[in-house]
Amino acid sequence: MTAHTWQSLCNKKYRLSFRLFLLLNIISVLFSFALPVSGLQAITLPFCLILGASTLALIWHMKFPRKKINVTAISFIFGCLWAWHIVIKYRSISAEDSAWLLIALLSVLFIGSLAFASNIIAFLLHSFPALLGCLWLSSGEMSLRMLYAFALPGIGITIQHVIQKRNDNFAQALMHRLMQERKTLNDLSMLDPLTGLYNRRGLQNKLDNLLALSEGSRFVLLLDIDHFKAYNDHYGHMMGDQALIRVSAAIRDAVRSRDVVARFGGEEFLVLLNHVDLERARATAERIRQHVFDLKIPHMFNESVATNVTISIGIAELEEGDIDAAIGLADKALYEAKHQGRNSILVASALQVA
Ligand code: GH3
Ligand code: MG
Ligand code: MG
Repeated sequence: MTAHTWQSLCNKKYRLSFRLFLLLNIISVLFSFALPVSGLQAITLPFCLILGASTLALIWHMKFPRKKINVTAISFIFGCLWAWHIVIKYRSISAEDSAWLLIALLSVLFIGSLAFASNIIAFLLHSFPALLGCLWLSSGEMSLRMLYAFALPGIGITIQHVIQKRNDNFAQALMHRLMQERKTLNDLSMLDPLTGLYNRRGLQNKLDNLLALSEGSRFVLLLDIDHFKAYNDHYGHMMGDQALIRVSAAIRDAVRSRDVVARFGGEEFLVLLNHVDLERARATAERIRQHVFDLKIPHMFNESVATNVTISIGIAELEEGDIDAAIGLADKALYEAKHQGRNSILVASALQVA
């Protein structure tokens, strides 16, 4: 799950609670129309406004669900309308009926606590006007009952709010960590564990990104350690690994950071030089060859021939982004370089001309 889907989940929850709020308002108004208290039908202006505004807002919101809404402001406006309605209607009831007041307040609190179960601000803004109106109209013991009726859902929603916040923070932190770990794993899967250079997958990924960018003269170098099988046979695989690590570092050191270096196979490497001409490519290959030679890793080829670890390099231009063709040409050049005695460099284009 990404941060984006997390946000859309939160928005969805927000939208649903808004729709529930509108629906509960419509139901409450219709219910009061159908079953008026003591048979006294009192259609007040705020009552009509609540019904009209809720219905229109609900239709509008179903049509444009992505439009931004300010639930806090709307909850306050509806709260004021309910308070206004309660005051008008209470005055029209001849006998002072504080039980009616309590029921009216409870229905407002009911709407608020159902729709805003985890939004304490909206709940408070929606309930406060009605609570103040009812307290103003009532007296004595009934006021205490009203405060109690308000405090109970208020405390419940506050606790819910805190729990929800903690859950959200936890889920978000977890999601963040998972995303970090996914990125780390993805990065690691692109690297060769022995040398730290890009592996074939990393190379492909790098090439996909690079080749999509601006054009420019590019060269592919294919490098292969000379007589490495003999090195392994003589010094053992562990020493062979150490030599591979040192040769890799020497290659990386000999090129610029914008050039791509990958372990192409066992003791083969690929270097992609960006924005260079043939002369620069040849000079870079020579620098790499020299760097490796200068490591002076002893290589007792056999009883009589003692040398040090060297590499041979084939060079080819990368034309029209065709990396496979360039690698094929560089490989041929490398093969020839091996034939010419190793520890040498050959350019594919020169071969073709010859
Ligand atoms: P050439 O000069 O023609 O390239 O001869 P070569 O012996 O280097 O070529 P060959 O392909 O015959 O042998 C490659 C050797 O590289 C064989 C293999 O044991 C060694 N090798 C490949 N990968 C690794 C590795 O990860 N660690 C070690 N220690 N050796 C490796
Ligand atoms: Mg080799
Ligand atoms: Mg090889």
